[in-house]
Amino acid sequence: MSQKDYYDILGVSKNASDDEIKRAYRKLAKKYHPDINKEHGSEEKFKEVQKAYEVLSNADKRAAYDRFGHAGVDGQGGFGQGGFSDFGGFNGFGDVGDIFEQFFGGFGGGTSRRSTGPRKGEDIRIKMTISFEEACFGVEKEINLQREEECTRCAGTGAKSKNDIKTCSKCSGRGVVSSVQQTILGRVQTQHECPDCHGTGKVIKDKCSECGGIGKKRQTSTIKVKIPEGINDGQQIRLSGKGNAGINGGPTGDLYIFFSVTPDEFFIREGNDIYCELPLTFSQAALGAEIEIPTIHGKVKLTIPAGTQSQTKLRLKNKGVKSLRTNKYGDQYIIVKVVTPRNLTSKQKALFEELKTIESDNDTLFDKIKNVFKRTK
Ligand SMILES: [Zn+2]
Ligand SMILES: [Zn+2]
Repeated sequence: MSQKDYYDILGVSKNASDDEIKRAYRKLAKKYHPDINKEHGSEEKFKEVQKAYEVLSNADKRAAYDRFGHAGVDGQGGFGQGGFSDFGGFNGFGDVGDIFEQFFGGFGGGTSRRSTGPRKGEDIRIKMTISFEEACFGVEKEINLQREEECTRCAGTGAKSKNDIKTCSKCSGRGVVSSVQQTILGRVQTQHECPDCHGTGKVIKDKCSECGGIGKKRQTSTIKVKIPEGINDGQQIRLSGKGNAGINGGPTGDLYIFFSVTPDEFFIREGNDIYCELPLTFSQAALGAEIEIPTIHGKVKLTIPAGTQSQTKLRLKNKGVKSLRTNKYGDQYIIVKVVTPRNLTSKQKALFEELKTIESDNDTLFDKIKNVFKRTK
């Protein structure tokens, strides 16, 4: 099937500006709009114009079309080949729909842009502070949540009984009503939300006494929240369907919980790794030692090798936090801090004095410094 050139359809040149394309499109869309133009073939023309504009108004699609022709843009969400009703709503082509809203006050069956059809309830966002341990290992908490819930008495219908729900007679349950207006463009048929049922297609004869016909009630509920092992400060979880009740039978919104984690005195968390500082005396650092180290999983014996320097990083594998994504554990890192003693006892002082006399003979590091002095004078 040979296809017409999109630039030809809109009657613009290959290097037309975005503005020129938009203007040409508006002109032709008005001309061929099926509500205005009842001539045979106008619907086909209208579809062509839509398709051409959809491609040429999008920089990426236009570039693809310029390079590869129709092959470059086929399959990128064109309009259906069926009846006109196939493309009610223009979902995905926001720009096209917006233009039509300006012209005709909504278009395309009136169903997809109806303001009071079923809608998802609003999401709820809350902040929760948890302890360092709770974040590391997960916890189950109960929270009191104020939200709009479906009225239990009427099951969200807003009616006193099932027999009180009637199909709206004004719109025959369609939720929209049509009217014909004389405009500068000629006779235009437009569709509006039904004023009697506000788009729901139903009217309630006797309202539910519990919720007054709204179908929802604001109340405080206690809900259980399972906080996963490994959650970290600043992260969030989403509890699907735990938000506010939907509107007109729409789905319930979601609950988002944003976590703030209280820092620990000893452990510092970096992602799934844990850091801590370990003070060592001169002799422990020089001679080596066996030391018990606290980890979030309990005590662990750590061998400090002889000659360990300050700032040395020692690793305890898999003693960190379990990753939310991979289920693998992080590590614990121990940063050694050799502490210079203060307030020496006389015995300690004597021992250090003795040590000093031996040290000055054999320490190559200090020889190096002496050499620097010689060089610089
Ligand atoms: Zn109605
Ligand atoms: Zn109710």
